[in-house]
Amino acid sequence: MRFKTFVFDLDGTIVELNLPFDEIRREIGIKDRFILESIAKMDEEKRKRCFEILEKFEVKAAKKTKLVDGVEEIFKLIEKMDLKKGIVTRNCRKSVDVIIKKFNLDFDFVVTREDAEPKPSPEPIQLALKIAKTRAKESITVGDFKFDLIAGKLAGTKTALILHQKNRELAKDFLHLADFVFENFRELRKLIF
Ligand SMILES: [Mg+2]
Repeated sequence: MRFKTFVFDLDGTIVELNLPFDEIRREIGIKDRFILESIAKMDEEKRKRCFEILEKFEVKAAKKTKLVDGVEEIFKLIEKMDLKKGIVTRNCRKSVDVIIKKFNLDFDFVVTREDAEPKPSPEPIQLALKIAKTRAKESITVGDFKFDLIAGKLAGTKTALILHQKNRELAKDFLHLADFVFENFRELRKLIF
């Protein structure tokens, strides 16, 4: 199957996941698993403060992270084939900008939590497809968590799950949402040719 547009998640998908989630939860003062959903329930003043804390952690992590093995090759291949690619992330724009600059990446769209409701809402993917002027059925959402797969499905795209050390155990619960499952990034070639 060939796709015209590739919608990539950021953390754990194209860059190594290095956010200290427990430390973030501690500093923000939440126990719930999902940080953005917890912050969304707070009053305006607290929400603003928590987003500042989260942004600080995300930017720091972005400065230190590495590209996942095989990403550069796949990106070059997508460019060579004249296909489109971009990022849809729950992270802040500042952290994505750090990564783009650091690795000299080139995207057709970048949608962050400042632009639309975060995944698992399909909204950020719908916005990405609109920017890329492409149809959902010609597109694939590539991610490492269930929110990526849920959002991708709801937006009408196909979905690919990338397995890595940190999500392998958890992934058993959302494997059924993936049209494709890959053990490493290089295998994405199969979606291009
Ligand atoms: Mg991820």
